[in-house]
Amino acid sequence: MATRILPADDAGIAAAATAILGGEPVALPTETVYGLAADATCGEAVARVYAAKGRPAFNPLIVHVADKHAADRIAPIGQAAAALADAFWPGPLTLVLPAREGNGIAGIVTAGLPTIALRVPAHPVMRAVIAAVARPLAAPSANASGAISATRAAHVAASLDGRIGLVLDGGATTHGVESTIAAVAPNGLRLLRPGPIAPEALADTAGLPILATAGGVIEAPGQLASHYAPRLPLRLDATERRGDEWLIGFGAVAGDDTLSTVGDPVEAAARLFDALHRADASGRAAIAVAPVSADGLGVAVADRLARAAAPRPQPAPAERT
Ligand code: AMP
Ligand code: MG
Repeated sequence: MATRILPADDAGIAAAATAILGGEPVALPTETVYGLAADATCGEAVARVYAAKGRPAFNPLIVHVADKHAADRIAPIGQAAAALADAFWPGPLTLVLPAREGNGIAGIVTAGLPTIALRVPAHPVMRAVIAAVARPLAAPSANASGAISATRAAHVAASLDGRIGLVLDGGATTHGVESTIAAVAPNGLRLLRPGPIAPEALADTAGLPILATAGGVIEAPGQLASHYAPRLPLRLDATERRGDEWLIGFGAVAGDDTLSTVGDPVEAAARLFDALHRADASGRAAIAVAPVSADGLGVAVADRLARAAAPRPQPAPAERT
């Protein structure tokens, strides 16, 4: 795939919107770092973001919306969150909030979690694309997995050349570091990632204390205990149902459900979390999953399934993605 770099003018923004609505990830400038954006309501589009980054594991992604009202349609914005939104949006603050049921966001975006990370970006190019697409955009940093975040279009192109179709060049980003992430709970804020906005400013604005996390240290993104795992025990590499299992198929292995009848790892990634939730709700005693080919995105799918099958608590996922 040839990677085009277009100036972030009206034509570039229109091209980006068309590509995103067609399910293709596009690299866009934000005020923090460049993001690799996809339609957050389309699981396969978001799966292609993981494929492009070569990410070996799933992590919940930040969803970018136009304003507080758009955010409220995805997760109810309570009093403290509204105070933070009014003070810091648009801007480099991400709020993690309990999501609404049926909010239309694909399961792969939150990696199955009942909470969702929301941000209203300030960068005019990102805002213009959100307006043109008229959908929420899921966007992790626009760099290959394990590489540092990109603050210029040329960095994106160097990291993801040939793996994405389009980069909009909006110049150098302002902050150069990722957004501050705070989870809003009734009794306080948990700082999930330090960033451009100081915790003291958040606490003052929300009128809530910053809660100490396990061991009194600030949680690093990859160390969150909050990764979705199915409630039922899970057996890997199953080619047939045993006893009262709910079998999730893949390719030639048919089951009660399937990750992809054609054995496509991108489709499997897009369907994985919804399939696990359906399995948990099936009323069966256990879950079995067919072997998933460990190529491309299949690596991330297999990683998630291995964690789901492992004894709890689960190990932390890979960091810096
Ligand atoms: P990135 O998209 O690469 O900037 O990373 C997004 C960060 O947000 C990751 O560190 C995630 O762990 C964090 N995050 C996103 N959604 C949630 C959530 N629902 N709960 C906790 N952390 C989240
Ligand atoms: Mg990153």
